[in-house]
Amino acid sequence: MNLADLLLRTAERHPERAALRLDDSVVRYADLDEASARVAGLLADRGLVAGDRVGVMLPNVPQFAVVYYGILRAGGVVVPMNPLLKAREVGYYVADSGARLVFAWEWAVEEATAGAGDVEVVAIAPHTTAASLSGAEPATAVVERAPSDTAVILYTSGTTGHPKGAELTHGNLTRNVEVTQSDLLHLTGDDVVFGGLPLFHSFGQTCTLNVAMAAGASVVLLPRFDARATVELLARHGVTVFAGVPTMYSALVALEDLPPLPRLRLAVSGGAALPVEVLGRFEERFGCALLEGYGLSETSPVASFNRPDAPRTPGSIGMPVSGVEMHVVDDDGVPVEVGAVGEIAIRGHNVMKGYWNKPDATAAALSEDGWFRTGDVGRRDEEGRFFIVDRKKDLVIRGGFNVYPREIEEVLYEHPDVNEAAVVGIPHATLGEEIGAAVVLRAGATATAEELRAYVKLRVAPYKYPRLVWLLDTLPKGPTGKILKREIVPPTAAEQE
Ligand code: AMP
Repeated sequence: MNLADLLLRTAERHPERAALRLDDSVVRYADLDEASARVAGLLADRGLVAGDRVGVMLPNVPQFAVVYYGILRAGGVVVPMNPLLKAREVGYYVADSGARLVFAWEWAVEEATAGAGDVEVVAIAPHTTAASLSGAEPATAVVERAPSDTAVILYTSGTTGHPKGAELTHGNLTRNVEVTQSDLLHLTGDDVVFGGLPLFHSFGQTCTLNVAMAAGASVVLLPRFDARATVELLARHGVTVFAGVPTMYSALVALEDLPPLPRLRLAVSGGAALPVEVLGRFEERFGCALLEGYGLSETSPVASFNRPDAPRTPGSIGMPVSGVEMHVVDDDGVPVEVGAVGEIAIRGHNVMKGYWNKPDATAAALSEDGWFRTGDVGRRDEEGRFFIVDRKKDLVIRGGFNVYPREIEEVLYEHPDVNEAAVVGIPHATLGEEIGAAVVLRAGATATAEELRAYVKLRVAPYKYPRLVWLLDTLPKGPTGKILKREIVPPTAAEQE
């Protein structure tokens, strides 16, 4: 088997169909097949052997898919990197993964070259066509791989420390794509999928690129998310399926003057907690079901989802997808009773092989019988639905009492003036930590920090409400739109004056 077969089977059956669109350009399945064979040829010329790692530093452009499937066809291991990385970071990823070569987008070449040292960097530009990949004769044969062979190494911080490479196998990814399709998306050749989630991240790779290529749907790429540009794209291309992270949904529901979107049939959210309020507003305004799911880079990523054919529970991450088991466990890894809070553990076809070259980190996260400890805190209800309470490391402990920021954020989102909110712990001399909340208001809203503080105070136990609320224009976010709590700095006493 080979993960690239997902694409090749479609290319054989539907060569003329549009696989990818960017602005006005269209890449057909036949084009993608041909161009990725050239990349495989180029790698064969460079002496790549099965299992060799190859870095990819590309934004959401059709060439991402060309290079991705080209590396896989050649039997290589794809190491996706954020194209915005600086030389130092590139150096770390290249050295850690032992990459043999790096493909970099034209504006990333400088940092890539500075970081990659002696490792060759191949520049990719908008006009890079199959034929212009120097010296590359197409290698149409696909190098066969075993289900347990690594296909992609995704760098992730996991719960702690330096980025580690989660090794996802051909079996992991192929099965996760199949399950995402059959449990959730049910894509056909008529579907048009929004491709605005970064493809270097697991959510975008599995739930937009791979699943669409396997089903013969087409993907409309958007290199940089912008809410207004997104709705225009949805209208213009008749997008039917939208995959996004919560911050994208917050931005979309804040828009005025929506164009009609009659073809939009399904929206899915993952990557971070979707505030219940945002879910409701989106479904009301866009007239389309929004299903929340859950997963991690280490789980390919899809682990659980609200199913389209079951009653949707706002605030829940749904039930495990087919072939995946989920438990809530205590510190010793023993399952707790229904309703009790503990750490989420996952076992199934989607769980990574381990962290690349990090046996200790692997042993700490993966038990011998295959359970992966996620570092997320959650619970399960009587019906078997799961809820994420928070991330283990985001927990704030105020005077010995546990406060889960998520709960307080949900209350803030209920305030009509709030667009985004992040609750964090602030170091405190006697309590250890105090509760703080950074809030972004909706355009034109006038609530003051004091009003928001009073609003939450009325609605939660006294030890939980934020003593300090401050207003910001934006919240710091990672490349996938996850709010970066570590980078939220509370105002000093002087600034509060
Ligand atoms: P990543 O490896 O970048 O995909 O990040 C995985 C992390 O995202 C998980 O460990 C969770 O903390 C978080 N996450 C993903 N989906 C959800 C969700 N639906 N609700 C809350 N947190 C989520």
